[in-house]
Amino acid sequence: MPATDAAQRKLLKNTISRCPVCHAPAPAGVWKERTDNGNDRIVLSRTCTEHGKSTAVISSDARFYWLSQGSDDNRCGAGCACSADPSGLTGTLGKNAFAEKDATIEQLSTCLALIEIVDSCNLACPTCFADSPVGTHSKLSYHRLPELKKRITAVLERKQHIEILQLSGGEPTLHPDFFELLDWIHEQVGIDYTLINTNGVRLAKDDEFLRQLGERVSRGHLQLYLQFDGPQEAGQRELRGADLRSVKQVAMERCQIIGLPVTLAMTVNEHNLSTLWDTIEWGIGHDNCRGVSFQPMFLSGRSPTTEPQHHLNTADIILGSVEQSAGRLKFDDFTPLPCGDPNCATIGYLLKTPEGIRSISDFIDFAEVQGFLKDKVHYRIEDLAQCGCDNTALGDILKQFEFRERDTFRLFIKPFMDAWTWDEDRIDRCCTHVIRPDGKLDSFCRYYSGFPDCASTEPIATSTLPSAK
Ligand code: SF4
Ligand code: SF4
Ligand SMILES: [Zn+2]
Repeated sequence: MPATDAAQRKLLKNTISRCPVCHAPAPAGVWKERTDNGNDRIVLSRTCTEHGKSTAVISSDARFYWLSQGSDDNRCGAGCACSADPSGLTGTLGKNAFAEKDATIEQLSTCLALIEIVDSCNLACPTCFADSPVGTHSKLSYHRLPELKKRITAVLERKQHIEILQLSGGEPTLHPDFFELLDWIHEQVGIDYTLINTNGVRLAKDDEFLRQLGERVSRGHLQLYLQFDGPQEAGQRELRGADLRSVKQVAMERCQIIGLPVTLAMTVNEHNLSTLWDTIEWGIGHDNCRGVSFQPMFLSGRSPTTEPQHHLNTADIILGSVEQSAGRLKFDDFTPLPCGDPNCATIGYLLKTPEGIRSISDFIDFAEVQGFLKDKVHYRIEDLAQCGCDNTALGDILKQFEFRERDTFRLFIKPFMDAWTWDEDRIDRCCTHVIRPDGKLDSFCRYYSGFPDCASTEPIATSTLPSAK
């Protein structure tokens, strides 16, 4: 990182980060600084008592960093894994919401709850944040159905409602009781929507699996979160260890046949950063594709732990996709989601009109609907038209073109954190939770961080299949 004049730096806030060497909590500052080319960017500097100072750029463009602590309603409670205060910093640095937590009522807002149902995977991606071991058939390690039901039921009892339940792994489609679990989830009135977080291999190759999944599609409230790293060769091997484009293509086509909506989940690193718009166009070219979720690569699990030259962030995705779109996408098409820390999720829409792709900011001012978007990661385009913000332009346009869900295309940017980018303020307001093996909820970022003080203390109850399927 080039040095900057001290006079060109401004401290925005203090927080707690992590030492990238030993992962110990470390006091940190978030700074806005002027670069040599005259632009402002945001850096996070922390100092470890043992390993000294380290700094990372957390926003390449200060225009896309939001200094906010999120909503006060969204704070931790008794069912949250962090209630044990693993950082050990409460009261020491005065930067922790734990001290205010209600000991009996879980107040934490959960927009998305993820549960790992299979630990093994049929791929061996070199960047796997879950560090999933390869394993299928007799080597498959998975979580037993009664155990999964118990954990999900307990969360429902505490919170009454899960907006989105994401089945994850490992590779969740390998679970031997996958459809029994899916049927049970669909019977739970407190669960709005199920996402299947998959690499698509089983969908592309297993006819019987596809047939059975197809039988469940008409119930609705079901979507595939398909790992997809772009339609180009660049990045495929670095991210997945193999070029899987033909597998993804077949998986997508087969989902189209059974009418299953798909969101593409793109891990973005320096190899595929130049293909953000290509991915959007590839998705728009498939009727059942509802959007792309961009995840700047973070260094957890199997990802390399050496210091990267640059930590990709939300600003890189916005700048890259707008530039690559040649005017079809605009900065105003994106807005931070206000339910947790606004730096945790950025969202936007494109509209498929008879005249081609239009950006949603042509019709609506996102700033006006911030209150409405609270706790609504999965809001629909129809919802926006009824948000009560008196924006008739969007309602008119929807009516004019008779927009349905399939006429809209959602862009989502989800910058998970690693030790380099860690800001404890974001964890304190986290709304993306993993249902841990011990039943507690934990922040996705912390669960996959690998920090020794954040590990689940309960043994993981898994099974292996007695014989090959
Ligand atoms: S990233 Fe996903 S597909 Fe790749 S090994 Fe990990 S769990 Fe499997
Ligand atoms: S999982 Fe991480 S990025 Fe997502 S809301 Fe929680 S703290 Fe923010
Ligand atoms: Zn250290």
